[in-house]
Amino acid sequence: MIVVLFGPPGSGKGTQAHRVASRLNVPHIATGDMLRAEVARGSALGREAEPIMASGKLIPDDLIVRVIEVRLDDPDARTGALLDGFPRTVPQAQALDAMLRRKGRAVDVVLALHVSDTELHRRIQHRAEVEGRADDTEAAFAERLRVYHSETAPVLDYYRTTATTIVEVDGVGDIDAVTERIAKALMPDGAGASR
Ligand code: ADP
Repeated sequence: MIVVLFGPPGSGKGTQAHRVASRLNVPHIATGDMLRAEVARGSALGREAEPIMASGKLIPDDLIVRVIEVRLDDPDARTGALLDGFPRTVPQAQALDAMLRRKGRAVDVVLALHVSDTELHRRIQHRAEVEGRADDTEAAFAERLRVYHSETAPVLDYYRTTATTIVEVDGVGDIDAVTERIAKALMPDGAGASR
């Protein structure tokens, strides 16, 4: 099962993706985490990505598409994956569809987490204090939210045009409650209902 977890920055995608992937028994593939690992390693990709990420902008589509293509070929992703932070633009979504089609695969479901901008601002301020991520400054976050609305939100409309299954879930509430909502939406028959 290939699931795209979709939501604005600060919506709790990462936290939920980690939990949901283990229930689905598929790898959690988070482009933000992969890029931060490249930055930490000081690789060529990391050096290119670092200033772009710090400013809240997106790294070029072709770069991230190549990273994902390699990752989806790993043996652990043969049966599925939970994608977190990708695709983030319509061209990325089109590239993902094309690469999956070549392999006889497809996105099975897009799970959209809904959180209002006001709640996002509140959460990100808290995360900035607790984690100190380089792109959690007020200016970088405002830019990430702007980019989300202009470039990432249209990805959901793209999936509507391709008739991909979209499940919408309210992302506000306590972490366990949101996990339950997502699990129920993805596995309505109750499979994996216990943690
Ligand atoms: P969040 O979901 O909190 O915004 P992520 O950890 O997913 O943050 O991503 C952090 C940064 O990494 C993004 O702001 C962007 O610069 C870069 N990035 C992650 N995924 C992508 C992607 N699919 N395309 C382009 N840039 C990306």
